[in-house]
Amino acid sequence: MRTCVLCGDKRPKHQLIRIVRTDNDSVCIDERRRTSGRGCYVCMDATKFEPSRINDKIKRALKLQTDLSAEFVENLSVRIMSE
Ligand SMILES: [Zn+2]
Repeated sequence: MRTCVLCGDKRPKHQLIRIVRTDNDSVCIDERRRTSGRGCYVCMDATKFEPSRINDKIKRALKLQTDLSAEFVENLSVRIMSE
C-alpha cells in the first residue's frame, strides 16, 4: 500500500498515479511506476483539490525548490480524470 500525498488515503499502488522527480530535476507522471528518482503517489480523487494545494503537496513530497508548472498540474488533472 502507498499513501496519497493529497488526501492521505492508503491504497494499492496500481490505484495510484506515481509522480517522480527525475535525476535532472524535472517532474513527470511515471506511467510505468518504474522511473528512478524521488516519487510520490496521488489517488484518483485528486481533481477535487485546488491546483494550489496539489502544487503545495507534491512540491513538499518531492522536496522541490520551485513550483510545479501550471501545465503539469493541468496534465495531471486530465490524467486523473481519464482513469
Ligand atoms: Zn488522495
